[in-house]
Amino acid sequence: MRLKADLHIHSNCSDGKYSPAEIVYTAIEKDLNIISITDHNTFSGSMIARKLAKEHDILVIPGVEVRTNIGDVLLFCEREIDFPREIHALIDRAHSENCLIVPAHPFDLMRLGVGDYVFEIRDWDAIEIWNASANKGSNYRAIEAAKILNKPGLANSDAHILDEIGSAYNLIETSELNISSVLEAIRKNMVKPVFGNPSLKTRLNRLLWSVESSTRKITKK
Ligand SMILES: [Zn+2]
Repeated sequence: MRLKADLHIHSNCSDGKYSPAEIVYTAIEKDLNIISITDHNTFSGSMIARKLAKEHDILVIPGVEVRTNIGDVLLFCEREIDFPREIHALIDRAHSENCLIVPAHPFDLMRLGVGDYVFEIRDWDAIEIWNASANKGSNYRAIEAAKILNKPGLANSDAHILDEIGSAYNLIETSELNISSVLEAIRKNMVKPVFGNPSLKTRLNRLLWSVESSTRKITKK
């Protein structure tokens, strides 16, 4: 079967606007079969969503966007694990737990992509080649990098508000709807990334949310 997956979404467990539950319901409405909530430095969002999703026809993969010493990296696992921030230690830990490690928006340096480290570190399981929230130029560079490195490419929304969910996604060919089969399908490049961008209205709403959430951070400090 061919399943629709958006594997980079933020909830209010980090800097996203909405709760894991609201994300799960929206993903179901949008006919996604698989999601990962990849909050900054915490599995919490995906673990909450995972409990809820058990009652519904959607698979939630435990995920996190780790701020490493070289930039932001997505980690997808079968269960929650602890994660070192030093990149080589993180890769070792990830692979010993059968997790996937994927540089997020690698050439979007404004958003702390790993940049040219993408070529230095050869152990990626895939590369996020299309991030619907990143600029097109950085996405095209990521597409080229995945070709050069011969790695599977993923397309994700990096949604922080509900309307962004599914604005880019992947069609994953897998025989079973469970986490280990989906992770294995990505490893084997049984993935067709589908590029897309949110509408102008959605992008404006995202911008408003970014301003609001950073103002909240400042007032909290
Ligand atoms: Zn992100």
